[in-house]
Parts: sequence; C-alpha cells; structure tokens
Amino acid sequence: MPTFPIPDIILKSIYELKPEKLTEMGIKLLLMDLDNTLDKYHAQYPTVRLRNWIDGMKKSGIEPFIYSNSHGDRAERFARSLSIEYINKAGKPRTKKLFALMKKKSVAPESTAIIGDQIYTDILCGKRAGIKTIAIRPIDMSNPWRYVRYRAEMPFRYAYWLRTKKEEKKD
Ligand SMILES: [Mg+2]
Repeated sequence: MPTFPIPDIILKSIYELKPEKLTEMGIKLLLMDLDNTLDKYHAQYPTVRLRNWIDGMKKSGIEPFIYSNSHGDRAERFARSLSIEYINKAGKPRTKKLFALMKKKSVAPESTAIIGDQIYTDILCGKRAGIKTIAIRPIDMSNPWRYVRYRAEMPFRYAYWLRTKKEEKKD
C-alpha cells in the first residue's frame, strides 16, 4: 500500500501553530523542517519572532527539534542559538533517523509531530513514521523551481481541504 502524504493539518505558517493545540493532541516532540519552514533558505540566524515562538513551545513542555535535510552548518547554528537539538542530512522522506530519534528520546509516534513546507519530504516522512503531520505554505516561492514543486503538491493539499469540508459537514 502506498502512503498518501495528505497532511493532518495545514497552516499558513508555523506561527499559526499554538502550543495549546499540540498539548491538546498529546504532542511532546515537535520536529521542525528548517528551510522555508522556520525561515528562508539563506537566513543565517533566528529572528526574534522565531525565538519567541520556540520559547512558547518549550514553556508548554513541548520539545522543538530541528529535523532538516540541509547540509552545511545552518541547522547547527539555528539550533545553538535557539538552545535546542537538531539533526541535519536527515534524509527525509526516509524514516531511519526519525525512528532512531524517537527511540533515543523514548517518545512514541503518537506523541510526535513534524512540521514542514514540503509534502514529498516532510509530510511523507511523517506519514511513513506514523506521527502527526503539519504542512505549511513555503515562506519563499520566488525561485521558479520551488513554485513548480509547490504546484505539484497541490493534489495533496486539495485532498486535505476536501476532507476538512467533509468533516465540517458532519459536525
Ligand atoms: Mg523545507
């Protein structure tokens, strides 16, 4: 059976995600994509807004964790200045490092979530691992290739929208 990467939640940006929502869902570990999720590709340091958002998560007992496919030292720099842990070269959508991480932290898949801008890496990885998946709109789509990729993900974003409509009707 193929895994269909339809996100559990879609938001405009990380800032729409409130710690209370995650607590309600029983989430203890929040894996965060870096590029185009926490900030643009070339951002070197976290903004004050991002720091505050991260602090809000920590205060609510949620561990924010950078889980990035990036190479180089950006993930480390971001993690350090936010005083959180990170994994780079994560190899999403492969799940090997994700399962190893949950085991190391003794956190169950039901208590883990991933937030990211890419359906075929972040969301697919989360679905395969059986954790909660939250998609956002990429921060920067000025690069035409990224825009094409975003368009290619539309069926899954649309499927989410359809499901949400159906659920609304049921209520
Ligand atoms: Mg990304």
